[in-house]
Amino acid sequence: MDGTRTGPVLRHLGETALELGPAEPGGGPWRRGISDGIVWLVLDRQGSSVNTVSQDVIEALEAEIAALEQDTPRAVVIRSAKTAGFAAGADISGFDRMSDAGAADLLRRGHGVLDRLENLSCPTICVVHGAALGAGFEIALACDWRIAVDGASFGFPEVRLGLHPGLGGTFRLPALIDPTEAMTLMLTGKAAHTGKARKLGIADVVTEERHVQAAIDAVLNGDVGREAAGLKFRALRFDRARRLAADRMRSETAKKVPQDHYPAPYALIDLWERHGDDRAAMQTAEIESFASLLDTDTSRNLRRVFFLRQRLKDIARGADGIAHVHVVGAGAMGGEIAAWAALKGKTVTLEDVALDPLGAAVARARRICKDAHLSGIETRDALDRLMPDPRGYGARRADLVIEAAPEDAALKREIYATLRDWMKDGSILATNTSSLRLADLRDGAPDPARFAGLHFFNPVPKMQLVEVVRHDTTDDDAAGRLTAFCGAIDKLPAPVTDHPGFLVNRALMPYLMEAMVLMDEGVSKERIDTAAIRFGMPMGPVTLADQVGLDICLDVAESLKRSVDKPMAEISDRLRERVEAGETGKKAGQGFYDWSDGTPHPDDGGGPDDMTDRLILPMLDACVECLRLGVVRDADELDAAMVFATGFAPFRGGPLHHARARGVDETRTRLEELAARHGPRFAPDPGWPDV
Ligand code: NAD
Repeated sequence: MDGTRTGPVLRHLGETALELGPAEPGGGPWRRGISDGIVWLVLDRQGSSVNTVSQDVIEALEAEIAALEQDTPRAVVIRSAKTAGFAAGADISGFDRMSDAGAADLLRRGHGVLDRLENLSCPTICVVHGAALGAGFEIALACDWRIAVDGASFGFPEVRLGLHPGLGGTFRLPALIDPTEAMTLMLTGKAAHTGKARKLGIADVVTEERHVQAAIDAVLNGDVGREAAGLKFRALRFDRARRLAADRMRSETAKKVPQDHYPAPYALIDLWERHGDDRAAMQTAEIESFASLLDTDTSRNLRRVFFLRQRLKDIARGADGIAHVHVVGAGAMGGEIAAWAALKGKTVTLEDVALDPLGAAVARARRICKDAHLSGIETRDALDRLMPDPRGYGARRADLVIEAAPEDAALKREIYATLRDWMKDGSILATNTSSLRLADLRDGAPDPARFAGLHFFNPVPKMQLVEVVRHDTTDDDAAGRLTAFCGAIDKLPAPVTDHPGFLVNRALMPYLMEAMVLMDEGVSKERIDTAAIRFGMPMGPVTLADQVGLDICLDVAESLKRSVDKPMAEISDRLRERVEAGETGKKAGQGFYDWSDGTPHPDDGGGPDDMTDRLILPMLDACVECLRLGVVRDADELDAAMVFATGFAPFRGGPLHHARARGVDETRTRLEELAARHGPRFAPDPGWPDV
C-alpha cells in the first residue's frame, strides 16, 4: 500500500485498478470506490499499519450501508487497504470504555449494522488477505461470500481475552460451517489458515492476489457454488443432539481450563446448547453474555496481560545492529538459542569443545524449523545460516557473542579470556548464566561495558521471555541493542539488574523450595502440583523443577542462599540426593517424577490447608523484594516478566496485580501468620507497603 490517501491504491493489492475517493478530512476508516457498478468499501484505519475494529469503524460502516440501502449497486466488495491483513479484531483499548458505557447497548448497535450488511439486496463479497480475526472475521461472516487470498486466515481469539465472539460470530459461524467445527474454532481461539478455511467452508474461493478480480467476477456470474448444510448441521438443530455435543465440549474444555478461572468457553457452550437452533434468541443471549464477560476479573486481567505483552514488544523496537551471532556452547541452551536466532534470520556460528553437541544442535534445529511450520525452502535457508564452528572462528566476525557454556565461573572466565583476543570492536558479549552474578564475571570480559546477561529460558523456542541483565557498568547502547535483538528474534525482553537469580529465578526459587519442604513433610508431589495448578499455574512446582533440571535448581538455590539476605528454606536433602544420583529431571528421564514414559499427571486433592499460600506467597514476596530493590523498572514489567517466563496464572494478571487484588495488607498479614507457624522464610518483605 502506498500510504497516500488518494489514487489507485488497490493496484498494489492485485489487478483491480480502482480510484478510491480521498479520505474525509477527519479520516474515516472506510474508503469508498466504484468500479463497473460494484461499490468497494476498503478498510483503512489511519495512523496504524493494522486495521482494528473500533466503535468508529462500525459507525462509519453504518453510514456506508445506509447509503447503499438508498442506492443499491450491482455488488459490494469489502476488503482492507493494509498490506498487513484484513483486520486484527476489535480494538481492545476500547473495551474498558465500552464496559463503562453500557456494553450491551453498543453491541446491539453493532449487531444492527452487521444485520443490515447481511440484508443488503445486492451480493456482498469480503476479500480477505492476511488475518481476519475477531470482529474482522465477523464483518466477513456478515457478507454473502468470502474470497480468501492465499495465506489468509480466519479466527476468533476472544477466549484468550476471557470473552467469546460478540458481533454475531457465535451464530453466523455455526450457521455457515459444521457447528462442532465452528465451536472448536471459537473455544480454542485457533485460526483456520487458507486451506482449512476452504475445507471448512469459511472461504468460498481461494485465489492469488492477482486473480481477485476474476474471483469476484466468478462469484457474481454464479460460477461459485456452496454445499448445502450437511446431516450433522441438521442433527444439531435438535436439543438432545446439541446437549450431548455440549457435554462433550464441556469435558474437553475442563481438561484445559477450569470454569471458575476461565468462564468464557463455558458461557459459549451454554449459549450454543440453549439457543443453537434459534438465531434471534442466540443474538440476544450473545450480547448479554459478552457484556457480562467483559466485566469479569478474568477478562480484565487477560486484557491487562495483552497490554503487558505490547509493552514488552514496544521495549524491543529499534535496530539491534546485530547480523552475526556467535554462540559458545552447543548444549541444551546454546544449541537452541543458535537454532532460534538462525530461524529468525540471523547468521549464526556455533562453537563447542565437543563435536557431538554440534551435530545434535543441527538435528535439533531441523526439528525446531518443523515445529515452527517452516517450508522446505525456509528450513534450508535457516539451516544454511546456522554454521557449526568447532574452532570458534565466528567470534571474530560476530556482532554478538552469546556464551552458553556450563555453569562454572572459572570455565566461563577462561572462555572470556580467549574471546578478548578475538572479538571485534563494538561487539557485545552476553552470558546465559542462570545463577552466577555478572559482577563476578564482568572483569574477565573483553569489554565490561559491553558485557551483559541474556537469560533465555528452557525450552528456547517455546519460552517467550528473555531477561536482559545489566550489571553496574553495562552501557546503555549495549543494553538497548540486546533488547532490540530480543525483538528481532521474536522474544519478549525483560530488562533486569544483576540481582541474585535476576527476577524470574529469584521469584521462582522460594516456590520450588517450599514444594520440597512440603515433600519433606510427607505431602505427595502430586498433591503439591495439584494445589499450584488449581491456583492457575500451568504446571506444579515439582514438575517444573524436574523440567528445569534439578541440577540447575540446586545451582540457583545455592547461589541465592549465599547472596540473598533473607532467610530461605533449607535446601532439601532429597534435591541433593537426586542430583548426586544423576536423576536431574526430565532430561535424565528421572527426577522427582519418572519421565521415561512422558508427562506426569498429578492426581487430585488434599494436602495441608495453607499449602497454596505456602507455595505462592513466598513467590509474591520475592517479587516485592525485586520491586523494592529496582531489579525491574516497575510493577507492570515485573508482572509481564513473570507471566511470560513462568506462565504465572494469566487470568490473575501477574503476581503483584494478584497481590493487590487479594489485598496488600491481607497478603502481608498472611505471610506473618505463615512465618509464625513455619519459620522466618515467610517474613514479609519491607517493600509491601509500597506495592
Ligand atoms: P549444557 O551442559 O547442556 O551445555 C554446555 C555445552 O558447553 C556443552 O555442549 C559443552 O560441551 C560445551 N562446553 C564446555 N566447555 C566449553 C568451552 N570451553 N567452549 C565451548 N563449549 C564448551 O548446559 P546448558 O544447560 O545448555 O547451560 C548452559 C548455560 O545456560 C549455563 O550457564 C546455564 O546456567 C544456563 N541456563 C541453562 C538453562 C537450562 O534449563 N538448561 C536455562 C537457562 C540458562
